[in-house]
Amino acid sequence: MRPRRLACALLAALVAMAPPVSAQLPTLGGGGDLSVSAERKLGMQVAKELYRDPDYIEDPVLDEYVLGIWKRLLAAARTRGDLGSDIDERFAWDVLLGKDRTINAFALPGGWLGLNLGLISATTSADELAAVLGHELTHVTQRHISRMMAQEKKNMPILLGAMILGALAAGRNADAAQAAMVGGQALFMQNQLNYTRDMEREADRIGLQVATQAGFEPQGMASMFEKLQAATRLSDNGSYPYLRSHPMTTERIAEVHQRMQLAAPGAARTPDMLHLMMAGRAKVLSEPGVDMLRSFTTADATRADPASRAREAGALYAAALAQSKLRDARAAQALLPRLAQLAAGNEETARQARLLAAEIALAAGDAQPALALADPARPELVLSSQARMRSGQAGAAAERLQTFVSLNPRDAYMWQLLAQAHAAQGQTLRAVRAEAEVQAARLDWQAALDRLRAAQELLRRGTSARDHIEASIIDARAREMQSLLREQALER
Ligand SMILES: [Zn+2]
Repeated sequence: MRPRRLACALLAALVAMAPPVSAQLPTLGGGGDLSVSAERKLGMQVAKELYRDPDYIEDPVLDEYVLGIWKRLLAAARTRGDLGSDIDERFAWDVLLGKDRTINAFALPGGWLGLNLGLISATTSADELAAVLGHELTHVTQRHISRMMAQEKKNMPILLGAMILGALAAGRNADAAQAAMVGGQALFMQNQLNYTRDMEREADRIGLQVATQAGFEPQGMASMFEKLQAATRLSDNGSYPYLRSHPMTTERIAEVHQRMQLAAPGAARTPDMLHLMMAGRAKVLSEPGVDMLRSFTTADATRADPASRAREAGALYAAALAQSKLRDARAAQALLPRLAQLAAGNEETARQARLLAAEIALAAGDAQPALALADPARPELVLSSQARMRSGQAGAAAERLQTFVSLNPRDAYMWQLLAQAHAAQGQTLRAVRAEAEVQAARLDWQAALDRLRAAQELLRRGTSARDHIEASIIDARAREMQSLLREQALER
């Protein structure tokens, strides 16, 4: 994800149009901090923008993996009493993945976390990733964002206005917004990312405690810091935006080492096969281009340290997926038996090997392995639904997806699949309504309302079969979207 791009939208808009709008902004909380609801609303505007970013990527496997770590950290923060009940209930606590290959993670207002695939693929254990996520989570739970914004109170209404306007401008005219974004970069870096040194220290300290409480090895933070420090020595070639917001001062490093009373840095760590497989997936899904994909298929598989089964599994996973993306199904499938063998020792790695095999087969036109996935978990459901749709079983797919979204009504990706399943059966009305839910889940209420109105029009013209239950849901949802839009308009 490119916070830069968003950032610049903010700044460009800020310069151009903030003064007239600032009068219409949500009011700040009384204590000088941004109120929980103001921060949440601000976050929703920013998240809505990120959902439309071409870099935004939804991947059922990586989503599940990263959310699993994020939720463990959240639970630990809750147990420790770091998570106030107001923000616990009202913030989103969701992770948005970006395809960007650079190393970055950033907390947004309102509990959203932006995470680049580059950071996932640069880490070698869940512990390392948890160290970064724990740090960012702490910026949210300690209300650093709200305090930071309150400290710059005079800029605050402008910043808010700019964020909102940036989102709107991008929605209306992506090219113009894109062009406007180029100028503000450096400004944003100074303006937006200056958590105080005390805040950074607190995020390091509490973040580490949260990660440890959640069962992650504190060693992960040490090795993550070593990595960032090494990148600092190479004088940041632009692929580590994280370092600009989080400079590796010797003080920070010393403090972390002291806190953990570390044994020698680089001490032996248990290789994390599951994480290395997920890192391999992140590497391939970041769309690095054909040459890079080719390099994963050859170099990695042979260069892999044969002494480390975990590393070999990670390399094989990346190689097989890369071969599949290069449309060489045979080469991809040739790698799978060895991967399955390596992954067999652990339930979760074995599952991931099975999922990958089904995904590769499906990409090559063989739906059978995906149809055989029995587990009702989300990644399995995605693959089996896609397989059903390709095998003339769209009805069965729709039925399962319908059950899933009724339990998870804000899952845009699954609503999208459901829309496809309905469309494949010629159920236009239901497909259009499911598309409306995709937009609503991505916080674009106007787009949702537009689709609901299209659905109402279908009913009026009688082109769609009478479907009374669906019709009343559509009317109710349209009223909800209208009221959300009115609320939003009043705030501005
Ligand atoms: Zn930080």
